[in-house]
Amino acid sequence: MPIPTPGSDSKAAESKPADSASASLDAFARRTLADLETRALRRRLVETERGPGTAARRGARSLVSFSCNDYLGLSDDPRVIAAGQEALARYGAGAGASRLVTGNHPVLAALEGRLAAHKGKAAALVFGSGYMANLGIVPALTGSKDLVLVDALGHSCLFAGAQISGATMLRFRHNDVEHLRAILSARRGRHERALILTERVFSMDGDRAPLDDILAVAAEHEAWTLVDDAHGLGVVEAGARAPLEMGTLSKTLGSYGGYLCASQAVIDLMTSRARSFVYTTGLPPASAAAALRALEIVEAEPERAARPLALARGFTARLGLPEAASPIVPILVGEAAAALALSAALEARGFLVVAIRPPTVPAGTARLRVAFSAAHTQDQVDALAEALIDLGMGGV
Ligand code: PMP
Repeated sequence: MPIPTPGSDSKAAESKPADSASASLDAFARRTLADLETRALRRRLVETERGPGTAARRGARSLVSFSCNDYLGLSDDPRVIAAGQEALARYGAGAGASRLVTGNHPVLAALEGRLAAHKGKAAALVFGSGYMANLGIVPALTGSKDLVLVDALGHSCLFAGAQISGATMLRFRHNDVEHLRAILSARRGRHERALILTERVFSMDGDRAPLDDILAVAAEHEAWTLVDDAHGLGVVEAGARAPLEMGTLSKTLGSYGGYLCASQAVIDLMTSRARSFVYTTGLPPASAAAALRALEIVEAEPERAARPLALARGFTARLGLPEAASPIVPILVGEAAAALALSAALEARGFLVVAIRPPTVPAGTARLRVAFSAAHTQDQVDALAEALIDLGMGGV
């Protein structure tokens, strides 16, 4: 792509590739996009302003958002904003370099201490994002001689971490402990180490992993277990803790970043070996300060933490759906185009409820994903239920 000179028409420059390599690149992109379009898989960014609270604005249209993972409404809590602002004013916009290079920031150390205590672990390490955490953690623990077992509905970053590790990667059927046990019985002996990857709350289904049973099978076969708690922290806390508990600062904690809580030895190993920690710039102190304040609020206000699940349960009862196990409720539609049409119909009625399509979810299981927040009012939830019933989706 030629660099437009002052006064040149950059649009024209964009549409005329300079050489045949650029032309073939653009042709490839267009062909692939056309293919995605025909399969209803093309994704587009839609300009949307978020907030305050559960509000979303698209052009002139005001919507109530049920598509946000800010489950406790903390991303625009005045106390969280103030903590972020103070750190921003004091420490600046960015971390400047890797934490191993510029020196560790006390705000990050304080956040790590609080996360570790929250999870009952000896130590914690904050990463640039939850996705980056898994890209770093899994390859730091496993390599070509090892076995990584991933729940079939695990998040993309669990699979990506397993792939980067070079280990033998196998999927076990979703939440199927017997399948997991069978694979370990048949395969464990051929590998040096084994690592199981699952989620406390599954991001697109809202159900929970049977962690007690998974940890028991792991113990039988000397396998390690990593639980991705991206959607559980602060809203679904019950249940066993795994030796490796990772998650994100971007959902319940309303900020940005990822973390791992584990033993001191494991965290020390990550500090030297997780490439997505070592070779990337530290999290901006303002993001860490906001997350730390949010975590304090989560711990101090249990009634807030209970609200999203209570709203989700009222909603599933109203629609005759299986009882919600978390603030995430899937409404299965089937084909991608039908899910998109339902999402558009809801948008026309003032609700932002995103359609989730393959490859994010298995083929034939396109759905609406409804996410409840402590910031929703009961009236907003009732209005969404009414709209869905009116559109033919359940109703009792
Ligand atoms: N794990 C799960 C289960 C997730 O849903 C997500 C985000 N959608 C991530 C990890 C990645 O976290 P982050 O957004 O902080 O990169």
